Parts: sequence; structure tokens; C-alpha cells
Amino acid sequence: MRGYLRKIGWTLLTLTCCLTCFADREPAPVARKGLLDLRNTDLSDHPIKLHGEWGFYWMHLLSPDSLTAAAPDFAPYPRLWKDLHLHGRDYPTQGYATYTLTILLPRNRPRLGLEVPDTYCSYKLYVNGAVQSQNGRPGDTKETSTPFWATRTVVLPLAEPDTIVVVMQIANFWHAKGGPYKEILLGNKDDLIQKKYQDAAYDFLLAGCLFMGGLFFLGLFIFGRHDKTTLYFSLFCIVYSYRMVGTDTYTLHSLFSDLNWFVTIRIEYLSLSLSVTLFTLYTRHLYPDDVHPIFTKAMIWFCHTYTAIILLTSTVIFTRFMTTFLVVMFFSIAYAMFVYLKAARHKRSGSLYAMLSTAILLLVFLLLNLHFFGFIPPLRLIVLTAYIAFFFLQSLALSHRFAQTFKTAAIQAQQGLRTKSEFLSTMSHEIRTPLNAVIGMTHLLLRNEPRADQKEDLGVLLFSANNLLSIVNNILDYNKIEEGKIGFEQIPMDLPAIARNIVAGLKNAAGEKGVSLLLEVDQRLDRKLIGDPTRTSQVINNLVHNAIKFTKEGSVKLIIHADLLTESAATVTVKVVDTGIGIAKEKQSMIFDRFTQADSSTSRSYGGTGLGLAITKRILELQGVALQLKSEPGKGSEFYYTQTLNFSEEAIGQHEEFTTFAFRDQLLKGITLLLVEDNPLNVLVAQTMLENCGATVDVATNGLEALEKLNAARHRLVLMDLHMPEMDGYEATVLLRKRGETLPIIALTASTPKEVESEAYAAGLTDIVVKPFNPDDLYRVILQHAGPANQ
Ligand code: ADP
Repeated sequence: MRGYLRKIGWTLLTLTCCLTCFADREPAPVARKGLLDLRNTDLSDHPIKLHGEWGFYWMHLLSPDSLTAAAPDFAPYPRLWKDLHLHGRDYPTQGYATYTLTILLPRNRPRLGLEVPDTYCSYKLYVNGAVQSQNGRPGDTKETSTPFWATRTVVLPLAEPDTIVVVMQIANFWHAKGGPYKEILLGNKDDLIQKKYQDAAYDFLLAGCLFMGGLFFLGLFIFGRHDKTTLYFSLFCIVYSYRMVGTDTYTLHSLFSDLNWFVTIRIEYLSLSLSVTLFTLYTRHLYPDDVHPIFTKAMIWFCHTYTAIILLTSTVIFTRFMTTFLVVMFFSIAYAMFVYLKAARHKRSGSLYAMLSTAILLLVFLLLNLHFFGFIPPLRLIVLTAYIAFFFLQSLALSHRFAQTFKTAAIQAQQGLRTKSEFLSTMSHEIRTPLNAVIGMTHLLLRNEPRADQKEDLGVLLFSANNLLSIVNNILDYNKIEEGKIGFEQIPMDLPAIARNIVAGLKNAAGEKGVSLLLEVDQRLDRKLIGDPTRTSQVINNLVHNAIKFTKEGSVKLIIHADLLTESAATVTVKVVDTGIGIAKEKQSMIFDRFTQADSSTSRSYGGTGLGLAITKRILELQGVALQLKSEPGKGSEFYYTQTLNFSEEAIGQHEEFTTFAFRDQLLKGITLLLVEDNPLNVLVAQTMLENCGATVDVATNGLEALEKLNAARHRLVLMDLHMPEMDGYEATVLLRKRGETLPIIALTASTPKEVESEAYAAGLTDIVVKPFNPDDLYRVILQHAGPANQ
């Protein structure tokens, strides 16, 4: 903090030194008794100010021809009439006068020009008898005069004699100040013209920057978070941008010379009172805890009063209050500086930028006032730079605030995502538990030799329940992929076996539709490949499932082809070809987006959510593989991808026929199991499934009970639910293992295997079966671990 203050101090000191240097430049010639002798002055170097004692005729508007009629007084030029004291006399602000100056020019001089600034509030300037410049119309009554303000640059005629006589008529009936207050410049016309363009360029550049900056922030306010700080800053920039062209040299007025002075002076004054209001509000909203509310109220009240005065009273009246307004404004900027200092002490966002920028603004005002009172020359470049620095630093303060808001929003969004994913995971768990009962019971009913009509209804029930299950699974999966939570295993996988299992699993579904499901596996793939069997199986299953779903007749073919084989790796193309409805060209890229189906009627006719392909594509993409599609409506589709996988040392397994067990097989006869499950519906489903196949089932409803009931001599295997009251499946397994039980304990879970497997295996569970289970999967796992029945 101190460091910053020291830096600001140094900057101010350096600038003051620079300014003093400017002020100390060699003294320019001064007019005496209405005569300015420039015979020994080099006019080609820089413009000369026509200041000093001019001839002065108060309450006379004299033309060049009538000058000789009266002897003039001499008065300093430029000086406001209210500051004149000639022969002990004071002058009013309203009135009219003529000024004269004779200038002796050097022999060698460039082509000359004049820069004539505005006066309060109208003038006509003659050079050697001819009118050269005019602002409005000076007259001896209010009615015969019109005011106007603009800075004019004029080029003097070529055949200029060595002596020129300047006559200037000035009249004021409208402003609280009267008379001349800015210096007229005489110099090389090229320099003056260049200066004019330079000044105009500065003014328009700054006005343009401010206006565009203001619009930008206004856009942020409108399309963003409706943050009032941004709104006030944007309006402040826009309003203040007018002041760059509508005050000081009045660049705008030089462009449009028929502007109405009574309108423009009101806009000029209003722009200031409005800017102060907006800046006060901006500061109040930027650091509300550091601004005293009474300050804001008082300032706004003060500005509003002045605005009302500007709008309701005559120009003579409202211009009288300007000095008071400027003093209050100066103090308000100093107070803003104090607020930013306080904010910086409290380490508020962007406060250092805000503080620096206000320090710069104070400096600008200091410079403008020093120039106004004639202590320093006009430092347009410094003022321009300072203005740009002020707005730039204030923008930084705002941007800082924005960045902070975005950071907070990002954190909140992440929290939201976490909550969403927790919610989805809980929901899917909760949905899967009752689904387990629905699917399990339907399986049971289907195997109890139902009537043909009942079988058909049960088929619909099973289809819908499975569909619901796949939707729940898909949503959960997509959520995980979006969160980047998905990881890939690198273990030996038997690709031909995966393909065979998928085909076997979906054979019935295809058969029911009269679609033949064919499998073609490259025989050269004789070793296992390194990859993720679960995800690979999910991808292929999705593609084959879709193909069957969207094929009414003909065939669906799964082809696994080795494109390239080396000793260590195989490049494999997995292709699913169907003779189904096909996909129109324009829909082909769309169907990979989430929740998108080629046809809006798809979900009605075929079910699904439009998530399957999005998931499939993402799973492949995350492994650096692209999913491709060739399709023609009415002819069929071909989904395929090519992936290079390393070989493992293990040979692939033998072809196993996928079997559907029937209850009459009494597959589990002689096996006694302990089923540990708290949900009575799940108990009913599992118990019936198992007993129908000949198993004997003892039931425990939580971990504690399981510890009591397990009898190693009686039970060949334990089916253990993981989430239970009193004692969950993990804890119970740990305690059983501690007790020395070595029998297989199979986890039953409504979560996905990935979610529970590390904890489950660490606890000592032997395998995992996911609910809702297909009876055949359950039988197979039991047979695998408990050994054949009747033992
Ligand atoms: P879902 O099958 O749940 O609608 P997917 O993401 O798996 O969602 O598929 C998106 C859409 O792509 C489907 O609705 C369907 O319009 C189209 N589609 C996918 N596979 C095929 C196919 N084999 N034949 C024709 N259209 C298909």
C-alpha cells in the first residue's frame, strides 16, 4: 500500500517538474498600449499569444473604419470583464466592447494564420478591415446579438502588410461571465492548421474510445448479470464522451456551425452534473461498505438540484453556479479517492486500480485548472493520456470484479454439478431397487409356464422395465462421462467372447422380430487384447441393440475384422451392419448429440432417449477412436470404428454356448445359501428365483443377523446386499473374513460394479452381481463360485 502511495507521489512530482519547465519557457512578447512588436520574433518557430494591453472601447461596437473617432482605454487581453479594474472602475458581466491591437510583423515570416478561441459569448474579428473570424453575432442589445462558441483557425490573406490591425467586437448578454478568457494565437498557418486537426483528432479519438467503452459495458450490463456498477460506469462513459467534443475547444461546434448555443450550453452543463451523479452512484455500488450513504445522498441531491436549475432557469442564472459546482465536484472526487483508499485497505477487488484512476482524475482536474488560470500551457497530450489512463484503470477495476464474479460462478457451478451427480447417482440407485423387483418378478412369472396371452403381456412388461433400466443407466453414464469421471481399464479382454455374449444376449430380441442376428469374427484374433472389456462390451452392445431396434426385417451383422496384425498389436475394425430403416444424410451428424433422435416419432415407435449413441461416441473418443457411419434411408446403416490394441499373452477362451436355464433343470439342487437382504421385495424375488431352481435359501435381513445365521457347515455361499441398516454388507464381510470364513460371498448391489468394486474387493467380497439381475446371470455366478449342485 505504502509503495503505491510513494509511486503516486513520485509521478505527481515528476509531472509538476515537467509542467514548471513548460511554464518557464522564454517569455513571449507582450502587447503594450495596443501595440505588439513582433519584428524581432521568429514566427515560424511556434505560435505567439496575442496577449497584453489591447485598445479597449467599453460599450462601443466599433468597426475598423470608425476607430479613429475615439481614443481607447487600454485593458489586458484576455481578461473577463468582471476581473477588470480600469481607473478604479469595475465592469459588469453583461455588455459589449471593442478591442484593438496593432501588430508589427517581422520581415521574414511564413504565411500567417490565427487561432481564435471562443469568448463569452459572441465576437467578430477584423484583420486590416476585413472580417476574418466570427462566433455568433455581437450587437449592442440582447435582441440584435446571438451567442456561439467554437475555436476557429483562419489563414490571413497572402498580401499581408508588415503591420496588421486587429479589431475585435465582443458582446455578452447571456452568460454569468463576459469578455475574452482564452488567448488568440498568431503563427505559421501550417502549424495552426495542423494543431487544429490534431486537437480535433484527440477530441474525437477520446470521445470515440469512451463512447465505445461505454457501449461495451452497457452490453455487459444488458446481456450479463444486470450489475448496477456496470450500468452506472457505462452511462458515465457515454455521457462523459460528449464532453470531449462539446466543451473546451468545441470541436463539435466547428463541424456543425448552426448548432443552437442555448441547447448546447445546457447539454454541456447537464453532461457534467449527470457525470458526477453517475460517478457517485458507480462508486457507491462498487464499494458499498466504504462509502458513507449520506455522501451519496447529498451528492445526488446536489446534482439533481443543479440539473433542475440548468433545465429551468436562464443561462445567465445557471452559469453563475458553475464555480460552486466545480468546487463541490472537486471535493467529491477527493472523497472518491478516500473511498478507494479505504477499499484498498480492506483488499477489495480492483480497488488499487480504482484508486490509481481517481488519483489520475484529480491530476487531470489540477492540470485543467492550472491551465484555466494561465499557470501552464494547454497540455493536451498529457490530459488525453491521463483521461485514457483513468477510464482504462476504472475498466480494470470493473473487469477485476467481473473476473471475481465468474470465479465464484464457476465454483458454484462445480458445486452444482457435484450435487447433480450425487442426486443422479442416488436417484438411479433408488429407481433400480424397485426395478429389481419388477424385472425379477417378471422373469419368475415368465418361467412359471404362463398362458400364451399372459406371456405376451409379461413380455411387454419386461421390455418396458428393461427399457427404463437402460434409460437410468444411460443417464448415469452420460453424467459420469460429462464430469470426466470415466476411466478405462487396461486388462486382457477376449474380444471374440464379448462379441459372442452380446449376440447371444440379444438373439432372442432379434428372433422375436424375425431379424437374423449374425456374427463374423476374424479367426486370426487368437490372443486376448489389452483394453477395457466393460466399456468395449457397452459400445458394441449399444450398436447391435440399436441395429436390431431399427430393423424390421432382414439381418443385423456384427463383424470383428483384424485389418492389421503385428506380433504385438492388432488393428481391429468393429462393424455393425443392418438392413433397417437407415438414417437420412442431414440427420447423420445430429444423432450423435445427446437426447437427439433422427425422427421425433422415434421415441414413440422404438423407445429410447437419444443418449446411447452420444455415450458410445464419447467412450470411443476418450480412447482416441472415431465412430463412423454409412447409411441410406430404407436400405440400412453401418456403424463402425477402428481401434489398435496391444496383444496380451493370454489365449482367447473357448466358444461357450450361451444358455438359458429353465426352472425344471433344478440347477441349484442341494445348494444351501444365505441371502442377506433388507428389502422384502428383493428377498421375495431372489428367494423365489433360487428356490425354483432347487436351492435352499436362508434369509438374514442385515449384516448383524448374517453374522449370527451363517453356518459354514450348512451354507455353500452368501449373497450379500451392500446397503443395509444396522450393519452393511461391507462391514459384515470384513467381520466374517476376520472370523475365518472362507466361503464365497457375492455382493448384490443396485450401484454399478465400477462404483463399488474397489471397496467390495477390499472388504473381502468374492464377486459382484448387479441388481436388477437376470436370473441366468445369478445362476451362473452361483454355479461358478459354489461349484456344481448336488455336491
Ligand atoms: P435411442 O436409440 O435411445 O433413441 P441413440 O443415441 O442410441 O438413442 O440413437 C439416436 C438416434 O439415432 C435414434 O433415435 C435413431 O433415430 C438413430 N439410429 C441409431 N442407430 C440406428 C440404426 N442402426 N438405424 C437407424 N437409425 C439409427
